[in-house]
Amino acid sequence: MSETGTESAPLTAPVPGPATDPGLDAWRELPIKQQPSWSGTDEHRRAVDELASLPPLVFAGEVDILRERLAEAAKGRAFLLQGGDCAETFEGATADRISARVKTILQMSVVLTYGASMPVIKMGRMAGQFAKPRSSDMETRDGVTLPAFRGEIVNGYDFTEESRRHDPARMVQAYHTSASTLNLIRAFTQGGFADLRAVHQWNQGFRANPAYKQYESLAAEIDRAVRFMEACGADFEALKRTEFFAAHEALLLDYERPLTRTDSRTGQPYDTSGHFLWIGERTRELDGAHVDFLSRVRNPIGVKLGPTTTPDDALALIDKLDPTREPGRLTFISRMGAQNIREKLPNLVEKVTASGAEVVWVTDPMHGNTVTSANGYKTRRFDDVMDEVRGFFEVHDSLGTVAGGLHVEMTGDDVAECLGGADPIREEQFDDLYESLCDPRLNHRQSLEMAFLVSGALAA
Ligand code: PEP
Ligand code: MN
Repeated sequence: MSETGTESAPLTAPVPGPATDPGLDAWRELPIKQQPSWSGTDEHRRAVDELASLPPLVFAGEVDILRERLAEAAKGRAFLLQGGDCAETFEGATADRISARVKTILQMSVVLTYGASMPVIKMGRMAGQFAKPRSSDMETRDGVTLPAFRGEIVNGYDFTEESRRHDPARMVQAYHTSASTLNLIRAFTQGGFADLRAVHQWNQGFRANPAYKQYESLAAEIDRAVRFMEACGADFEALKRTEFFAAHEALLLDYERPLTRTDSRTGQPYDTSGHFLWIGERTRELDGAHVDFLSRVRNPIGVKLGPTTTPDDALALIDKLDPTREPGRLTFISRMGAQNIREKLPNLVEKVTASGAEVVWVTDPMHGNTVTSANGYKTRRFDDVMDEVRGFFEVHDSLGTVAGGLHVEMTGDDVAECLGGADPIREEQFDDLYESLCDPRLNHRQSLEMAFLVSGALAA
């Protein structure tokens, strides 16, 4: 979300009600995966109508600014940091938790800005990250089989028939939860919370972490830089506000479609549920509903690319999602796994680069590195996550291409979900401190540690 009053982007109100271009409904005739089973019910119609009557969550002008920022990232003149929960929850949308997450992203971004010597585009997997793709439609526990949990926008986590029912009214609750989350993010990032000096002070709190020793010299350099700026009379007032963008996987088209509105300036459709929307690894078929729908909105779009992606898949996605090769339009988020990235990524990057397309290459070092702990929790090892990040930088270094950003599942809280780190999280802590309803997140300290490590790689 951009600073209010940014001159290049008037916050024009969209025409009320959803956009009407017939192409926006073409997805309805196409194969679609990972959707709930509520189609055609009265409840479903009521929820969709209500979403269609509600105001946009983000503005077209902000979305256009983000596209410009991402164009800079594609050229190596900015770096994208995307972070947040695997699955947001309604209950988790509290002031404390939202502020902890925003704070952690701001802290990471100061460290990254220093290492990269370039602007960091800050983006939360927040205010809409409620729908989850699942490997199986059903889940069996102790001989009882019920529908799988698909994120709180579809059903509840509790393992009862009532809770696991697909309930379209949850989409309206997701909208209102997103609205209040965005409201808080806007207040934090515009109201002084983002003050560079304050964020730097928070990072000094990292001293208590055993990892700090390793980063002491980098932290001291940042400290000197901030004091140097102060001495030069830098305008810290201006650094009290920052842009912050909202992103989620556009999985549930019943939610995305009614929130798609025509911008009164340009006459173009924008999906106003978030600034940046991505297509997941499980729903990126070229002829499927998700790719078709997102090809028709003006938002910057991401696509997750797993280890089975071929260069032809990537090139076909570019033709469909970014036919005019518009800078900032398309971001490829690779999630190969630490074992695969050095082998699989180069070919994709080479072929895409040779085609003349200019995408933002981002690494998601989480989703290819998920394992089950001996005590039965879904987890990831910090070392594997970091190894994938290192592989990502190595590949781009060797090809002379741009490592454009980082996409992580993280939280500002002291949870225990990923193993390791300098102040290591151990399996025994999971019983008490594992909170995620879906994938494991880096906790606050692991997130900062990653920022210091990546900052070092960017500075190298
Ligand atoms: C996710 O980002 O939570 C996710 C499901 O990722 P992917 O589509 O890459 O598996
Ligand atoms: Mn996830």
